[in-house]
Amino acid sequence: MLSINGIKKGVVIDHIKQGVGVSIFNFLALDKANYRVALIMNVPSVKMGLKDIIKIENEIEIDLDILGLIDPNITINIIEDEVVKKKFKPHIPNKIENIVKCKNPRCVTSIEKNINHKFILVSKKDQEYRCDFCDEIIKIQNLL
Ligand SMILES: [Zn+2]
Repeated sequence: MLSINGIKKGVVIDHIKQGVGVSIFNFLALDKANYRVALIMNVPSVKMGLKDIIKIENEIEIDLDILGLIDPNITINIIEDEVVKKKFKPHIPNKIENIVKCKNPRCVTSIEKNINHKFILVSKKDQEYRCDFCDEIIKIQNLL
């Protein structure tokens, strides 16, 4: 088990399914980060066999619950002063804005710019969301 030593303030995303770490890393655009980040793959885990871990030495602006759409079993640790201040599992959000775009070519959000892309959760189990503008149902996981 890797310790979180060395992070003064930031986020550690733990218990990522093996192989999924890189998806979360890319989704958060951490390849473009100008602060310390680490993607650690294939870490031995008693519960999971092998897992991935991401360490981010910075505050993250986005709502981390959205990561539950990529891997619902992750644990998010918020670190302050080298101590875990908050630890939580992501809740799949009831509403997502400006994360993915509607695929319906006739949707107003496909035609007009400067419109918020807004989706409302319709099925937690299937991770299906409904476009707030045209009612198109999308499976988020296919788009992340
Ligand atoms: Zn739409």
